[in-house]
Amino acid sequence: MLKKWFEITLWKRIMGALVLGAIVGTLWGEGATSIDWIGAIFLRLIRMIVVPLVFITLVSGVIAMGDPKKLGSLGIKTIVAYLGTTVFAVTIGLTLAATFEPGMGMSFGGITAKDVSHSVALEDRLLAIIPLNPMLALVEANMLAIIFFALLFGAGALIVGKKAKPIADIFEAGTEVMLKITHMVMEVAPFGVFALIAGVVGTGGVSKLVDVLPLVGTFVLGCILHVVIVHTTIIKFILKLPLGRFFQGITGAQLVAFSTSSSSGTLPVTMTVAEENLGIKKPVAASVLPLGATINMDGTAIYVGVLAVFSAQAMGISIDFADYLLLALATTIASIGTAAVPSASLFLLAGVTSVFGIDAAQTAIIVGFVFPFDRPLDMLRTVVNVTGDLSVSTLVAKWEGEFDEETFRAKSVD
Ligand code: ASP
Repeated sequence: MLKKWFEITLWKRIMGALVLGAIVGTLWGEGATSIDWIGAIFLRLIRMIVVPLVFITLVSGVIAMGDPKKLGSLGIKTIVAYLGTTVFAVTIGLTLAATFEPGMGMSFGGITAKDVSHSVALEDRLLAIIPLNPMLALVEANMLAIIFFALLFGAGALIVGKKAKPIADIFEAGTEVMLKITHMVMEVAPFGVFALIAGVVGTGGVSKLVDVLPLVGTFVLGCILHVVIVHTTIIKFILKLPLGRFFQGITGAQLVAFSTSSSSGTLPVTMTVAEENLGIKKPVAASVLPLGATINMDGTAIYVGVLAVFSAQAMGISIDFADYLLLALATTIASIGTAAVPSASLFLLAGVTSVFGIDAAQTAIIVGFVFPFDRPLDMLRTVVNVTGDLSVSTLVAKWEGEFDEETFRAKSVD
């Protein structure tokens, strides 16, 4: 039986738990809150992994950026192009979330955030990002300070170079370990989701589940706009290449991204379509795409930005311009630090929501709320992530003269 259970893909188990939780909640009513403790275990596990995950994956994300430096101008151009598209993604996500306000009118059991943004002056908030003691920042889960130190630590390791190789290896291995732990926590998700949904539906009715729709709608619109505005502009207007051919050429990679929800799992196919269908030559495909799978996540940036604004709105925190700037920065960094595996970005949300003074415990509740619906959203954002990698690679290949236009324009791509 246990074998049968594990044979079902995790996200299908989570979806099943969602449906079952809704049915049990409807039948059991308020009594379903008596299994709240199962949901609490799941939320505690999420909280447990946030700090080490953010710190370790961010350090190794920065170290991963070091490799292209060796490639000189190619590396610099690649990073600039990747960051540029990410900034557009963040802007689109935040603008839509500010416009459609998907979190308005939501409630999360009366929890309130500290609302740092309005009690502390901007200079002090910026100053607080520099930890007086990084160890204390880790202990207190002071996310912005942790992010700041992680960036510096990664940069330091890069500058030291060869001598810091053991550190780079440790953080790379640490990332693997943290992802394994995340994976274990995700195995608890079906039970946690079942209990959480039963409690929510038991007390608020099935209509409570509809609360997630504005969030989903805002995110999906963001993804569509990003592909239509940014990726299309790169291919059609900057490179003056036929758009249909581009999308026809990358369909294989998009489908794999959709079904695996993992940019790194898709990488072999991404590289194949880049070389065979888009005419990107090996030196560019072999360096730009692996880096993209690691640091360039446009769909993730849209998702994390929308979700962070959603969280603030749901907790009744008003957001001013300075908040948006800080949020944009934190979201960009989070998307760089996100590992290219399913649901990874959801666990980095705490690093971003801390801009509003929302702490890890409160973020865990939001994560618990969106988790049941995360898989389809993850499938979509991974497609956008991979599409971003491929459009930037085409751009860099053309800049570097490593582009075979004939292959790109070839009649049949299969
Ligand atoms: N699943 C995404 C990817 O692999 C990362 C995420 O946003 O969770 O690209």
